[in-house]
Parts: sequence; C-alpha cells; structure tokens
Amino acid sequence: MNFNKMEPIVLSSSDLYEYFQCANEGGMRYSSKTDTLLLITKSSGTSSLKKNFYADKWDETHSRFYFTGEGRIGDQKLTRQNKRLAEYLTNTTRLLLFEQNAANSYIFYGEVILDGNFEKSMQPDSNGQMRMVYLFPLKIIGNMDQDFLIKKQGNINLLSIHELKKKVSQESDISKFIKQKKLPQRIARSPYVVELARRLADGICQLCKKNAPFISKDNKPFLEVHHNEWLSEGGSDIIENAIALCPNCHRKIHNLRDQKDIDICKKSIESYNLSSNS
Ligand SMILES: [Zn+2]
Ligand SMILES: [Zn+2]
Repeated sequence: MNFNKMEPIVLSSSDLYEYFQCANEGGMRYSSKTDTLLLITKSSGTSSLKKNFYADKWDETHSRFYFTGEGRIGDQKLTRQNKRLAEYLTNTTRLLLFEQNAANSYIFYGEVILDGNFEKSMQPDSNGQMRMVYLFPLKIIGNMDQDFLIKKQGNINLLSIHELKKKVSQESDISKFIKQKKLPQRIARSPYVVELARRLADGICQLCKKNAPFISKDNKPFLEVHHNEWLSEGGSDIIENAIALCPNCHRKIHNLRDQKDIDICKKSIESYNLSSNS
C-alpha cells in the first residue's frame, strides 16, 4: 500500500497501549481514556500473521479505504464500535488507522475521517456463511486537509466548556504520541484545542487585549488560534501551547517573533483555568 512516501511509523502492541490505553485485541479498539478509536486492518498474505478475516480494501484510486465493521458471526449489528464509527460526525471520537503486518507490528497510516455513509456488503462469516457486513469509507487526513473540522464543528459548538476541557485533556496522550513520533503531517490539528482556546479568550485577543475585529458568519468573535511554540518547530498541539489572537497580532507575532509578545502570550496561557470542574 504505497499511498505516501513518508517513512513508515511502526508501533508495537505495547506502544498502542501506552499511547492510547486501548484494548490489546480486535480490529476496532476504543479507548475511553483518550476517546480514540484505533482501526486495525491486517496485511494479507503475511506468513507470520493469520490472513485478514475481513475483506477491507482500497478503492480504485487509493483515496478511500473501506474498513469492515466488527462481528464475526451472522449479520453485523450497528452496536458498540460499529455504532461509534457510524456516528463519527456527531461524536467527539478521533479515528486512527493502522495496518498490522506482523504479530507485534502495526504500521501507522494516520488520522482518518469517515468519508461518507457506510455501505452494506456481503462477506463470509467465521462459519463460512455469507452474511451482511458494514463497510466504512475512510480517508486519511493531514494538516492541510481539515474538512472534518468543519463537518464536526456543529457538534463542537454544542460542547460545554467543561466538556471541551475534558476532551482536550483526554487528547494530551495523543499529543505526546505525535511529538515523540514526530508526526505532524499524519494527524490533524485538534479542533477541540482550537475551540477551547477561543472560548477561554472570550472574544478578546490575548496579545493586544482588544476585542476581536468582527463577529464571524458562525456568530463567534473572529480570532485565530496560534501555537506559541510553532508546530513546525516541534511545538505540541495542546491547550498549554495554544492562544487566540486577532489577525493583526497573529501576523505580527509570525513576522517579528518579538520575545516580548511571546512572553505576553505565555502569561495569558498560564492564566488559563483548565480545571474541568469550572
Ligand atoms: Zn490583537
Ligand atoms: Zn500562528
């Protein structure tokens, strides 16, 4: 599967457990601690590994991956992780795609979105009987392709600040993973960090301390979210590194990189109340 030219990132089962705190078994591993769903397909024809039971496949153009839902006997049901995946656009879970190519070896493809509605198909079950399965179309996203942010935005707007804080703290393990494995292109910026930084700023630029210049179409004060330590220079996509700025200040800080401005941003960040009880 040669869909990108980057060096493969290979993780072990214990890496998966350490970073995501997910179960050790199964093709769909959900972790409530990090609110991520790991989707694991198996390479076909690897001698050290049993053949993939499910007929997962790429489409002709290699732009979409059809991932088969869970359930080995009889018709699959829209419960558990199948349900969570089907409801991707209205829940807060993030999806990460892996290919298991040996007993303890998982190639990380990147963050994926559910790219359209699931389809129904027929595949044999573990007794060899044909039965109905769900096929979920997935698309790998990168930093430049953040359509899912917009799709999920409606849902993010509905989260209380308490829920946002909880979500952002759940994601800190993912941020750690991204940083340690140096993965900026393979995972999208967290939409939750962006939204929380805006909510904490409450319509006020955190550098010049003036009101946002206008109210945007979606009825929110227009502020941009900046990473104080730049992502391109190894900064983390965590709330402790994110700050909402007016467009002028955002330009200024990128253009001048004035240490005084950076320090003001740092101070603002230190004054965040991140306790999820408030
Ligand atoms: Zn400003
Ligand atoms: Zn910036």
